[in-house]
Amino acid sequence: MASLTNKTVLDRFLRLGIPDAKCQAMYVWIDGTGENVRCKTRTLDFVPKAPCELPIWNFDGSSTGQAEGSNSDVYLHPVALYRDPFRLGNNKLVLCETYKHNKKPTESNQRWKCLEVMQKAKDQHPWFGIEQEYTLLDFDLHPLGWPKNGYPGPQGPYHCAVGANKVYGRDVVEAHYRACLYTGINIFGTNAETMPAQWEFQVGPCEGITMGDDLWMARYLLHRVAEDFGVTVSLDPKPVTGDWNGAGMHTNFSTEAMRAPNGITAIETAIEKLGKVHEKHIKAYDPHGGKDNERRLTGRHETSYIHDFSAGVANRGTSIRIPRGVAEDKCGYLEDRRPSSNADPYVVSERLVRTICLDES
Ligand code: ADP
Ligand code: MN
Ligand code: MN
Ligand code: MN
Repeated sequence: MASLTNKTVLDRFLRLGIPDAKCQAMYVWIDGTGENVRCKTRTLDFVPKAPCELPIWNFDGSSTGQAEGSNSDVYLHPVALYRDPFRLGNNKLVLCETYKHNKKPTESNQRWKCLEVMQKAKDQHPWFGIEQEYTLLDFDLHPLGWPKNGYPGPQGPYHCAVGANKVYGRDVVEAHYRACLYTGINIFGTNAETMPAQWEFQVGPCEGITMGDDLWMARYLLHRVAEDFGVTVSLDPKPVTGDWNGAGMHTNFSTEAMRAPNGITAIETAIEKLGKVHEKHIKAYDPHGGKDNERRLTGRHETSYIHDFSAGVANRGTSIRIPRGVAEDKCGYLEDRRPSSNADPYVVSERLVRTICLDES
């Protein structure tokens, strides 16, 4: 493939030392789609220890769907710092919020609101664990490993599978897992999914704003790692129509009260509150106001129907699932199965905390 260069040659240059005091900082941000990430690098002449030490920077927002050409500078405000698993050494990945020329957040910047809500609810110690499902696509955007002129055999043998005829793209998954651990992202695990070439990784439990930060950076790492393998990542919630599972972003949630003995009563109260604002949450659970999830939440393929709210123990056809172990222990967490794979974790975590912890609809 013409776009793939020789990684052995690259490695020679990556082994070159750089001056001690210098480091490369890769600024990463969410673009105007609210779904994709962008990045660019600058040299620093010090090694930062906290995001506040890094300079505010800017970029051409007219090229990322974030500003008009006549007033195109958008500001990057560093908010979280990670080790860089690609450049190693003292180099950093820097997650940023985006602000317009008038210092107001851009439309796709949902973090500042999420942070406000997390600060208000911090005494309840909200924890999140997110399951990020995604699909690996070949360079031509065809699902990785699928026959070019047809379909693989029907679903059944692929979930958590091993074997060259059942899973496609494990190299990407393994590399991404190690990269997450290296950076300091709180990755929990990974598994092959029900549709071949579909995978999942989980991040968490994370408290408050850290959930959104770690998941966005984990998404960046996934796209970046896959790029090295000449593979593409899709977060589309229903990449293949027909009898194939879609991709979600199941969000597991708990408060201190839910985790304490007999926390099941707090979990039940939370589910009642969620039932009252179902449509509002559905609108927030994908970047297109519910349109993306319409293709996925059909009531089939381990989903609930988009316009019905339901809950149940160990039931994967509901909006909210109480895991079997949680019902047995009478404490733990609930799983919101509705968010789409391309949902913004800042928006989803903010909605859950507003509804459950702050009693705001
Ligand atoms: P599933 O059975 O739905 O596939 P997974 O094992 O993929 O579940 O994911 C479970 C997620 O739940 C993990 O991300 C984990 O971090 C998270 N989790 C575990 N305990 C809690 C808790 N008390 N509060 C919030 N999230 C939790
Ligand atoms: Mn899972
Ligand atoms: Mn899954
Ligand atoms: Mn799940």
